[in-house]
Amino acid sequence: MHPREPAGPTAVRLGPHPHLEDTVTAARAVVAVDGPSGSGKSSVSRGVARALGLRYLDTGAMYRALTWAVLRDGVDLADERAVAAAAERVVLEFSTDPDESQISVDGLDVSRAVREEAVTSVVSTVSAVPRARAVLVERQRRAVREAQAAGQGIVVEGRDIGSVVL
Ligand code: C5P
Repeated sequence: MHPREPAGPTAVRLGPHPHLEDTVTAARAVVAVDGPSGSGKSSVSRGVARALGLRYLDTGAMYRALTWAVLRDGVDLADERAVAAAAERVVLEFSTDPDESQISVDGLDVSRAVREEAVTSVVSTVSAVPRARAVLVERQRRAVREAQAAGQGIVVEGRDIGSVVL
């Protein structure tokens, strides 16, 4: 480590390859992890966040939570305007701690419910609505800005993170 660099919990030594033994400061790194469902990106993303002391954002969980809200409200999935209106209306709150995958809709914890088949079977329909995507993308960007403002980095997991969100 360079003597002027502050040591801290986010100083990470890369190795063991001899050319990678520099110490890098990962404090405010923003890492995009994109991949399809079932590709193992959640385990990798959480692991990276833990190892580097970063926050963690699961954008799939956000689309799932919106889908849960759409089903709760009996919104017609074929009605794009109604789905978009739901995206604008609902309040999504989520943990960015890689050890705590918690997400809520309008104050109700739906962390388990969003993994159920009722949600999984239609989330792709909801996530295909452009205006709904725009709302969630903006929310995702806000989470990144909040992490950065707090002096922290974040691992963001999804399928459009490198290409669109960041
Ligand atoms: O990753 P996960 O399976 O939880 O994502 C659920 C669904 O949300 C995906 O199948 C996809 O339809 C949608 N999604 C998306 N864009 C993202 C993340 C997820 O459209 N960035």
